[in-house]
Amino acid sequence: MAEQTKYVLDEADLPTQWYNVIPDLPEPPPPPLHPGTREPVGPEDLAPLFPQALIDQEVTTDRYVDIPEEVRDVYRLWRPSPLFRARRLERALGTPARIYYKYEGVSPVGSHKPNTAVPQAFYNAQEGVTRLTTETGAGQWGSALAFACAQYGLECEVWQVRASYDQKPYRKLMMETYGATVHPSPSELTESGRAILKDHPDSTGSLGIAISEAVEQAAQDPDTRYALGSVLNHVLLHQTIIGEEALKQFELAGDTPDVLVGCTGGGSNFGGLAFPFLREKLAGRMDPVIRAVEPAACPSLTRGKYAYDFGDTAGLTPLLKMHTLGHEFIPDPIHAGGLRYHGMSPLISHIYELGLIEAIAIGQQECFSAGVRFARSEGIIPAPEPTHALAACIQEALRCKEIGEEKVILTALCGHAHLDLPAYGAYLAGDMVDNELSEATLEASLATLP
Ligand SMILES: *Cc1c(COP(=O)(O)O)cnc(C)c1O
Repeated sequence: MAEQTKYVLDEADLPTQWYNVIPDLPEPPPPPLHPGTREPVGPEDLAPLFPQALIDQEVTTDRYVDIPEEVRDVYRLWRPSPLFRARRLERALGTPARIYYKYEGVSPVGSHKPNTAVPQAFYNAQEGVTRLTTETGAGQWGSALAFACAQYGLECEVWQVRASYDQKPYRKLMMETYGATVHPSPSELTESGRAILKDHPDSTGSLGIAISEAVEQAAQDPDTRYALGSVLNHVLLHQTIIGEEALKQFELAGDTPDVLVGCTGGGSNFGGLAFPFLREKLAGRMDPVIRAVEPAACPSLTRGKYAYDFGDTAGLTPLLKMHTLGHEFIPDPIHAGGLRYHGMSPLISHIYELGLIEAIAIGQQECFSAGVRFARSEGIIPAPEPTHALAACIQEALRCKEIGEEKVILTALCGHAHLDLPAYGAYLAGDMVDNELSEATLEASLATLP
């Protein structure tokens, strides 16, 4: 029989529950704090921003949460997503390693983001909310939320980081096609935006600023809530459908991963893939090394401080204990827009502190080199973000080649690059630079921690 390349599940195998890793950890992560009182935030502090169902999921101690049938129904448009064995890449590298990737680019918007956008829109609609606000960096999250809002008849208003608004007109058109309204951030529409523009009239924006604008708008209108595409516990919870499916697919393949790598912006695709495997590891059923990969220009886990910090630039969010570069940090304009966040999911940060995962940082030239290599062997052109994960896969596969070891490597290919091709253009033209973060810049930014 020919060698198998693709492991697909039936619709009937679509998971019925998301997995919450928190009750399986040796200790729970530190709670978010109210910036004024420094006491843990209560549900009433979050109610202006999120529907009750998501607030409950944010703090739940249940190991499993049922996926509503209305959500599974939308998931079926593209889920279960395929798991591929990268045989062509393996051959191109001449490695004895077996490389697998779980491909999330099959969703309507081309990334893993709808896995959480859909349930977030669903719970808001169910509680009578009529409009959602959000931020978007690379445009992936805004597109996902716009699509999800269209499924449940919600209005969607998106603040898109200025640099990406100007560079990625197709993402804006995609959001508008789904019915969303898109503003460049910083904008004149919010106090947070106006404050930035006053001091920096030509600001290219940041995720932190765009979050401030979206949060400010939601807090002012009782029918509007805010949606966040990464970082929070409920987002990572929804993304665990990736890892749950991958576990079933590894059963089909009759294999077990030794190394799991994923790119981390706010930590959601990484956590989504890794947590179900971490459950198996903590239960002693397998023992994969789990490795987060971040950009050298925005290295929150590897060079940030583990401290309470704001999730946004204006300081409107609760304080989150996380690996942070400082909430005023504005990363160099690297091409992986989805990885340009100053902080990290508090849950991933906590798990990193517990020593259950590793982290490395890689410069973007090596990442795009990996992306091109992957495209030329496997065919899929990876989004700029997962090129970081692929660069780490290739590093590991080449180590295996050197020492003649047959490791099994798994990664999440969390999106394709069809709307990010100018980044490949820059790489192919030799115009891409590695923006190393200097110690002085980092120190200055960390000095602003609350
Ligand atoms: C948003 C995004 C990321 C970064 O977010 P995480 O929460 O860390 O997953 C990575 N890859 C793609 C394709 C994205 O859209």
